[in-house]
Amino acid sequence: MKIIMLGAPGAGKGTQAKMIADKYNIPHISTGDIFRSNIKEGTPLGMEAKEYMDKGQLVPDDLTVRILLDRVSKDDCRNGYVLDGFPRTIPQAEVLDNEVAKLGQKIDYAIDVNVPDEAIVRRMGGRRCCPKCGATYHIEYIRPQKEGICDECGSDLILRDDDKPETVLKRLEVYHQQTQPLIDHYSKLNILRTVDGTKDMQEVFEAITEYLEA
Ligand code: ADP
Ligand code: AMP
Repeated sequence: MKIIMLGAPGAGKGTQAKMIADKYNIPHISTGDIFRSNIKEGTPLGMEAKEYMDKGQLVPDDLTVRILLDRVSKDDCRNGYVLDGFPRTIPQAEVLDNEVAKLGQKIDYAIDVNVPDEAIVRRMGGRRCCPKCGATYHIEYIRPQKEGICDECGSDLILRDDDKPETVLKRLEVYHQQTQPLIDHYSKLNILRTVDGTKDMQEVFEAITEYLEA
């Protein structure tokens, strides 16, 4: 089961990818999480990625593709994976399609979580993340049991650096220019399903599992 999640930043890809990964017992792979953990550890990769992320830009394809291919070559990916935030450009999608084809396999499902830009800005302003385990909450819509504290590991929740309003607008612009064309790409491969991401998270998840189990 190889699944990719498409959608604007803040559409709910990570929230749904985690639920998919738990239900089907496959790894949830987020290139954004990989970059953030490298930034936290101060690695050269993290330092390079941070320059782009802070400006709301995409990290260059060669670097991003390298870390993604390295991750999906690990043993735990043998039965599939759910990719969250990759691919984000047509060249990234082409490399992924080719690499998977070399193994005699293919990407099975592409899910587009569709949320209009106005709602995105509200969602990202209220997003709070756990810097330790990566869990994501929202101050209005998906609250932790105790305000400001991660339900899963008890760490203090933070506002991501790139969730500031001016960076969010830049990320949305980059999404429309560089990532939205992937919807067409996967639609032509006949594996795309668009779900209404404005519904509550359980309803979105039901629409997704209905597609995965059809
Ligand atoms: P992405 O991974 O696409 O950037 P997230 O999964 O981090 O998006 O979700 C963005 C924000 O919206 C988070 O604060 C999350 O808790 C919240 N969120 C996710 N899904 C929903 C939903 N269906 N309804 C309301 N808020 C949601
Ligand atoms: P995310 O956590 O998916 O919202 O990603 C946060 C940031 O990491 C993005 O705004 C990009 O700067 C960078 N990033 C994550 N995934 C990719 C990717 N596939 N290609 C390029 N940059 C990425």
